[in-house]
Amino acid sequence: MNAEEVTDPEDDGRDLRIRLASPVMGDEEVEAVRAVLLSGQLTNGPAVVAFEAAFAERHQVGHAVALANGTVGLAAIYLALGIGPGDEVITPSFTFISTATSIRHVGGRPIFADVDATTFNLDPVDVARRLTPRTRAIVAVHYGGQPADMDDLRAVADDAGVALLEDAAQAHGATYRGRPVGGLGRAAMFSFTPTKNITTGEGAVVTTDDGDLARRVRLLRNHGQTSRYRHDHLGYNWRLSDVQAAIGRCQLDRLDGILARKEANDTTFRRLLDGIAGVSPPVRRPDRSHPFMLYSLLLDRDRDAVLQALLAEGIEARLYFPPAHRQPVFADVTTLLPVTDDLAARLVSVPFHSRITVDDMADIADALTSAVRGGDSRQGSAQGGPVALE
Ligand SMILES: *Cc1c(COP(=O)(O)O)cnc(C)c1O
Repeated sequence: MNAEEVTDPEDDGRDLRIRLASPVMGDEEVEAVRAVLLSGQLTNGPAVVAFEAAFAERHQVGHAVALANGTVGLAAIYLALGIGPGDEVITPSFTFISTATSIRHVGGRPIFADVDATTFNLDPVDVARRLTPRTRAIVAVHYGGQPADMDDLRAVADDAGVALLEDAAQAHGATYRGRPVGGLGRAAMFSFTPTKNITTGEGAVVTTDDGDLARRVRLLRNHGQTSRYRHDHLGYNWRLSDVQAAIGRCQLDRLDGILARKEANDTTFRRLLDGIAGVSPPVRRPDRSHPFMLYSLLLDRDRDAVLQALLAEGIEARLYFPPAHRQPVFADVTTLLPVTDDLAARLVSVPFHSRITVDDMADIADALTSAVRGGDSRQGSAQGGPVALE
């Protein structure tokens, strides 16, 4: 194989025994794709409509619009809200890059706010400090899938008269104070790339209770077309194909099983991690569910030696996410985000896909035990020391 044939940017050539992601696909998906292929309607068809209806029902929200991927899903929300040049959107820096780049795609300015040191979700107090007369929206990212402090953020957004949005890319099926995510703000985006709990390869859904907003997102998705070959608005081709939608419909049926398995595995994993000095498992808030799209451990020391030790044991591990405000693409943004910077030095996400075994979890715990025995802890640093569980 020559170099050009290596197409997976995630594959660094190591022999990894325990991977971060392991999508669940079965005969149902294969049969559903087969049916679409033989139907002759590969896009703009009934599979997309069925997927959207099932997704809206599962999340108890009025409208769901399927799109090509989450990045354009966010851009579609901003455009549908009329956000553009000169407008500011407050977002965490501690997120996947496209939460912020999608704001730039529509000409807006991402304003980075800091996150809570225990849940890694937006800190509503810091968000309030970053409001200006140009602020148009606040995008709450549900980190690892655990919902952000939506009631506090809504209070900040309502006071300022700006839209509260959800980047629910990682949060399929999660609940906050008894309600599913997806309808907790003006609009939400869910992604279906292969690291998420359910996947269509590429794909996304935008949800909203606002029928007019949903209509505008649909127009943006399909060339601004109001009737055949009549284009009233500047639109795009941001459609999801029926092949992907058919997979999505099957994946949605798997969601509750996947969430239940992860919930049970969390209990096991916590027991195995308990007592490893300087390693804190994810903090769970009692009033919301945690779908564990990520299982991020907070260390009391710099992460990199631990990360290398895990990789050497064949355990895939990574920092989710290198902060956006430290990326060259945002080199022109200067801002202070002390919690984000501290987390970026101390967090490591370890494998926790739905097919992980007790042996895998025990292997990860053993590798962590030897890794932390190796180095000195960062006692005395500002955010040093493990974070207490609640
Ligand atoms: C995956 C993800 C996205 C981007 O979704 P794509 O479908 O890959 O474009 C955006 N935000 C967050 C938080 C994500 O995890």
